[in-house]
Amino acid sequence: MDIEKLRFGYESRLFDILEAQLGQSLCQGAVQAQNMLQTWKRNLLGNAVCVTAELLPEVHRHYQRCLDMLGANLNGDLFVQQGMEYNASVFAYQNKFDVLINSSLLNNFTPDEWRFVFGHELGHVIFGHSRFSVREILANMPDVSADTADMLFRWSRAAEVSADRIGLLCCGKLTDAVIALFKTASGLSGIDADRVLASFRRQYDSLETQLREAGTDGFAWVRTHPMMPIRFKALELAALDIVSLRHNPSGFSWKGFRLIDDQIARILESLDLMSFLKVS
Ligand SMILES: [Zn+2]
Repeated sequence: MDIEKLRFGYESRLFDILEAQLGQSLCQGAVQAQNMLQTWKRNLLGNAVCVTAELLPEVHRHYQRCLDMLGANLNGDLFVQQGMEYNASVFAYQNKFDVLINSSLLNNFTPDEWRFVFGHELGHVIFGHSRFSVREILANMPDVSADTADMLFRWSRAAEVSADRIGLLCCGKLTDAVIALFKTASGLSGIDADRVLASFRRQYDSLETQLREAGTDGFAWVRTHPMMPIRFKALELAALDIVSLRHNPSGFSWKGFRLIDDQIARILESLDLMSFLKVS
């Protein structure tokens, strides 16, 4: 399975623009990344708990299933820390990485939903999203133009869409992926999947209208994670393809997938453009 092909095309385009604009500065971030991985690992060993097959066999099994499915010579541990927020993160240098997950996520998500979360974080590793940090670039380059800063955030949001696709690939069902997003956004469990899907669809339409009519306040949009209804929309549009790729990699039509990918790119790009025009 050629997982690289699942990368959101809009993310690649934005990266090429950023590389042209920032060049060397992006590479400097990569050198720092190796040192940061060591610090990150030390912090995890000191403050979190490593998930092993002996300690948490079920969690470990599902995490391992994701690694096996992605099969990209991935080499990294899963850690859990006490935390009420539904949060997970990863730090990677090349194919070495460690995933950190909050305990509430293990307690309140189902195993299928765990795999969406694990897959999402592993997606960041596979696609090399830790190569540089948007926040660090902005902190170290205070004279970066508003246009480049906007481009960095756009890239970062597009990267989340790519990572969600790997999440869905690992979990295997759109409803489980969407419920994981819904739980993360709302903190609520036990709501019927059809109602969750309908609510996300309605909310995406309202958000789209709101952005079109009123723009953003210039703050909410400057976030590295795209808002949940947009992640939902991007996932829903790609879901049939991703699930069929999972079941039948050799018979999969990448041509059809590229058309869907272009459609999603047009949606994100038009939301990005209308927000940027409104705030700049
Ligand atoms: Zn992410």
